[in-house]
Amino acid sequence: MASKHGLVHIFLVAFPAQGQVNPLLRLGKLIASKGNVLVTFSAPKSIGKKMSNAGAAVSSDPTPVGNRGGMIRFEFFDDGCDEDKYDQPHDLDTYLSLLEAHGTKALKEIINNHTLNGSPVSCLISTPWVLWVCDLAQEFNIPCAALWVQSCACFSTYYHYQNSLVPFPSEEQPDIDVQMPSMPVLKSDEISSFLHPFTPHMFLKRSFIGQFKNISKPFCILAETFQELEEDAIKYMSQIFPIRAVGPLFKGALHDTGSNISGDLLKADDCLEWLDSKPDSSVVYISFGSVVSMKQELVTEMAYGVLNSGVSFLWVLNMKTTTTIDKTGELPKGFLEEVGERGMVVQWSPQAKVLTHPAVSCFVSHCGWNSTMEALSSGVPVVAFPHRGDQVTNAKYLEDVWKVGIRMSRGEAENRVIGRKDVEECLKEATSGVKAVEMKKNALKWKKAAEEAVAEGGSSDRNIQEFVDKVKKLRVQ
Ligand code: UDP
Repeated sequence: MASKHGLVHIFLVAFPAQGQVNPLLRLGKLIASKGNVLVTFSAPKSIGKKMSNAGAAVSSDPTPVGNRGGMIRFEFFDDGCDEDKYDQPHDLDTYLSLLEAHGTKALKEIINNHTLNGSPVSCLISTPWVLWVCDLAQEFNIPCAALWVQSCACFSTYYHYQNSLVPFPSEEQPDIDVQMPSMPVLKSDEISSFLHPFTPHMFLKRSFIGQFKNISKPFCILAETFQELEEDAIKYMSQIFPIRAVGPLFKGALHDTGSNISGDLLKADDCLEWLDSKPDSSVVYISFGSVVSMKQELVTEMAYGVLNSGVSFLWVLNMKTTTTIDKTGELPKGFLEEVGERGMVVQWSPQAKVLTHPAVSCFVSHCGWNSTMEALSSGVPVVAFPHRGDQVTNAKYLEDVWKVGIRMSRGEAENRVIGRKDVEECLKEATSGVKAVEMKKNALKWKKAAEEAVAEGGSSDRNIQEFVDKVKKLRVQ
């Protein structure tokens, strides 16, 4: 199947969430940069609208990426929702069905059109919550791959849970430890909180388990991690699944020339100039990703903790993302005046750039997987403030395995509001003293390892190249 451009056409389908759009788009740019590939990035129309409002170039015409003739283009599809009103997280079950029904229909038409127009699709890649794309691929007899956007440890956890391979916390024994092969023992509040018997988020549990239904179908599972970071878990799980670590994707994607192609769903506030004015390693960056919202009491405690610690800070608060479940609280009256030049509060930051800025000393993070990878590969220690899901596992690894973090909280299972004293103490510990020095040293070690993984000939670079070569080979068979 030759395309009219003479390029292999790889078609990417993203679930509409910032945490999935970012890694998939980064992967798309990396693949295109390998040369002779046309990548189409596709997602529901609401995403196209948000990316475009945020200032990204999302043209349906192919745009060159890198200098080896690769291209990327965008094509958004109807998911059955009003593209201006997408706000579904309260009823994810309903939305997932709607997305599958409308998405399947729309993508069938799109794939057919590409065949008719001389750009047949040679491979489909989707993120976990849209793995029904594999069924579509089967129907069209097109190879299908997946991009796993959490850690390999979490992949292993879902696999062992779904197949009842080791004991997990149950209603009878809710507090037992979990021991999976090639992984450290996880306490009951360190496995993805959605797998806990008393999770208040049953719909998320169903969705996470549901996503695994099709996981044996892709011929390759590209994973946003890197070999050196999760050596044992990757080795073990890749005996069972065709897992290939290709991360950290943002590090790899930084090298390309298509840098005006960003996956941001909100326009980033300008804070880099402010960071430029600060001394090296003097600013604490605080952000809880695109989904977690903070209740009023927590915002108040966090604000006073930050204030009392005396640190300089950049805090992402009150962002109006479409996926935020609850309303975020407001800063105490007079807080900003009291803080003055010492702090800056924004609604959305250019996080990848912030984390690589020399002024940043540490990252108070909810430990979403993208944020975790971005911190690790930028050499920035983490004050872990996990909320739910895989974030609690990531926090455990940051502290005990990679040794670049301290936990300010253990997640929602702890069932307490973190007080201002906890915040103050954690910030002081992470920014000065023996622990801070040790964490920074380890963080720089991971940064180096990440750089080596994505450099030409590194473990992730080789895996991407092998993947692209394989797709090209499959095309001619
Ligand atoms: N992000 C950003 N600016 C912000 C907050 C977050 O660019 O102010 C990006 C961040 O770099 C990451 C993504 O949004 O790539 C969030 O993904 P993550 O997996 O960390 O958390 P989620 O939002 O899925 O909970």
